[in-house]
Amino acid sequence: MQLIFASTNRGKLKEIEKLFDYYEFRILSLADFDNYPEIVESGTTFFENAKLKAEKTFNHFRIPVIADDSGLCVEQLNGAPGVISARYAGEKSNDKKNIERLLSELKKFETPHKASFFCSAVFYDGQILLSAEGEVKGKIIEEEKGSNGFGYDPVFIPDGFTQTMAEISPEIKNKISHRAKAFNDLKSLIINYWRNK
Ligand code: IMP
Repeated sequence: MQLIFASTNRGKLKEIEKLFDYYEFRILSLADFDNYPEIVESGTTFFENAKLKAEKTFNHFRIPVIADDSGLCVEQLNGAPGVISARYAGEKSNDKKNIERLLSELKKFETPHKASFFCSAVFYDGQILLSAEGEVKGKIIEEEKGSNGFGYDPVFIPDGFTQTMAEISPEIKNKISHRAKAFNDLKSLIINYWRNK
């Protein structure tokens, strides 16, 4: 089955490609196309934004789509950065600037800085919308460690680990992450739907 992953984020794409068995699924991403629809993430929840991405992308290409919206929620910041995780330091932001802002916001709080990564994953083929969620709990540390992964991985230590998400191997991250949980569940829903179609 051919699916478009409605994202240009290479970090996410690498993880998704490994989660979906290559022989059953061929995953394209928006980066494979010259022109793709601009998607304004105007939702207030991860699910709303994931659904928006999937519907907009399907309506443009008419090929079944998988999409996600994900982010970091920090307890002491009342759930921020949440749905604005990718642009926490402003519209023209990047991972480095986002981490800088996060660490500066957390300076006034005592450790531990409890946090979770959340992911809402959806499938849309013009007929049905399937969805699944994933979460990984952990804490934010005050200096960056590791060079794997992307986003806030260098400052996030998952519960049960001593290393950051950017220090553990991509294989382990892809077993425990919010995205792995959400997309593994979504994959089962898609296969089930596809078989009974
Ligand atoms: P999205 O592309 O709108 O879903 O934005 C997701 C943003 O949340 C990313 O740009 C990262 O800042 C953050 N994020 C989501 N998942 C991860 C992850 O697995 N590791 C680190 N940061 C993540």
